[in-house]
Amino acid sequence: METIQHIIGGSGESGGTSPAAVFNPATGEQIANVAIAEKAQVDAAVAAAKAALDGWANTPPAKRARVMFRLRDILEARADDVARTISAEHGKTHDDALGEVTRALEVVEYACGIPELLKGDFTRNVGPAIDSYSDRQPLGVVAGITPFNFPAMVPLWMIPMAVACGNTFVLKPSERDPSSANLVHELFKEAGLPDGVLNVVHGDKTAVDALLDHPDVQAVSFVGSTPVAEYIYTRGTAAGKRVQALGGAKNHMVILPDADIDQAADALMGAGFGSAGERCMAVSVAVPVGEETANKLIEKLAPQVRALKIGPATDPEAEMGPVITKAAQERIEGLIEQGEKEGAEVVVDGRGFRLQGYENGYWVGGTLLDRVTPEMTVYKEEIFGPVLSVLRANSYDQAVDLINAHEYGNGTAIFTRDGDAARDFTSRIQVGMVGVNVPIPVPVAYHSFGGWKRSIFGAHGIYGPEAVHFYTRLKTITSRWPTGIRSGAEFTFPSMG
Ligand code: NAD
Repeated sequence: METIQHIIGGSGESGGTSPAAVFNPATGEQIANVAIAEKAQVDAAVAAAKAALDGWANTPPAKRARVMFRLRDILEARADDVARTISAEHGKTHDDALGEVTRALEVVEYACGIPELLKGDFTRNVGPAIDSYSDRQPLGVVAGITPFNFPAMVPLWMIPMAVACGNTFVLKPSERDPSSANLVHELFKEAGLPDGVLNVVHGDKTAVDALLDHPDVQAVSFVGSTPVAEYIYTRGTAAGKRVQALGGAKNHMVILPDADIDQAADALMGAGFGSAGERCMAVSVAVPVGEETANKLIEKLAPQVRALKIGPATDPEAEMGPVITKAAQERIEGLIEQGEKEGAEVVVDGRGFRLQGYENGYWVGGTLLDRVTPEMTVYKEEIFGPVLSVLRANSYDQAVDLINAHEYGNGTAIFTRDGDAARDFTSRIQVGMVGVNVPIPVPVAYHSFGGWKRSIFGAHGIYGPEAVHFYTRLKTITSRWPTGIRSGAEFTFPSMG
């Protein structure tokens, strides 16, 4: 059976502790092993990134951009391969995986503009014969730690911008679906990225801790669950690193009485059950305002949830696949049970879903819970599965207060025809990414992505203009060339005079 290797300085390496098993979630079969790094492999990867740094940081931005232009074309041409690699280990449908590749491609396209994005400012005569200019310089070796749910897109949220800015990179992808990271490396190599500029170490907490503590790692980008995000931020910043750590979510969609209910129900189906709910921007809570809106919504949703086409990624008819692991399946089913015990009405029950021919796959059927309340565990916790909770609100204000009181603030949406209400919502809501009649408001690559509250730790969002700031340091130079005029020593604080 294949062992997925680390890639250090451009070469495969399988050192570390015993490899871990990688499974096909649709069948439950082991399909590969993945190497699990110890500190030695992390040290080697950081050393390779450090050795490549000078050459790469001093490569003109326009030449670094050329690598991105080539990567763009390669990624587009190989989109099908990348999507298949994602689905084989993650389980998401082929079309969904292709969507992931498209969003990654947009970040690469944005990185193609790096010469313009890094252009500095210049002011002549800030003082007598004195000029001032500023530019943004790379940080050095930076690391990325990524989750299972977007095994190609999230690494590609980070790497193109980090390396286009002149940094070198060490990626620690999820050990659950590690092959996409190696494929991403292969595509970068084909695009002309020099060896050592991008390195991949596979592993778990041991590898992550080695990166967080390594004195040569200047910055860490993390995407994953909130407890780990908080840990990464705390330990990384304590070690003096710049850290952006994006965490979990509980995304609410408010449906006002004037909304088009059919459109709202369609939006909830896609945003709640696409990718089996394993998206940080999945809508997991619907908040209809008023009993009548709620009753109409449940009436529309229930038959659609029952009719969801669930299947492996190889089935072109499938609308959603399995969840990532047996443990995730058991956890999600346990939460549904807990919701029922705490008083939620199970309108559609996805527990015990089995698919003929795939009896050992990690399936959870689409689940619809009604009359959920803020005290229930299913409301407080991120479920990260195909479970949509409906929480009935009496008024628009109650809906806003509810969302603002939640610990997470990643994404949210409002469905309405009322421009006044929508405008008020976009200004009052304590959430980082807001949709108006758009259920999954993931910003395009030339804006930046990031939540609020405990959905993010650190001051920078990911990709887009925020990435340029995160992956560079501002330097400002004030210069005067000798004019031959001597003004003597000046003891007052320098000013324009
Ligand atoms: P996770 O937090 O379990 O793992 C993320 C990464 O951290 C992996 O590489 C993993 O190996 C590593 N890790 C896990 N436990 C660790 C520990 N104790 N110490 C150090 N490192 C550790 O997340 P996941 O299950 O892979 O992904 C799902 C989570 O990611 C969800 O909570 C989802 O909301 C979140 N997510 C957030 C965003 C966002 O942009 N905010 C995007 C995608 C996913």
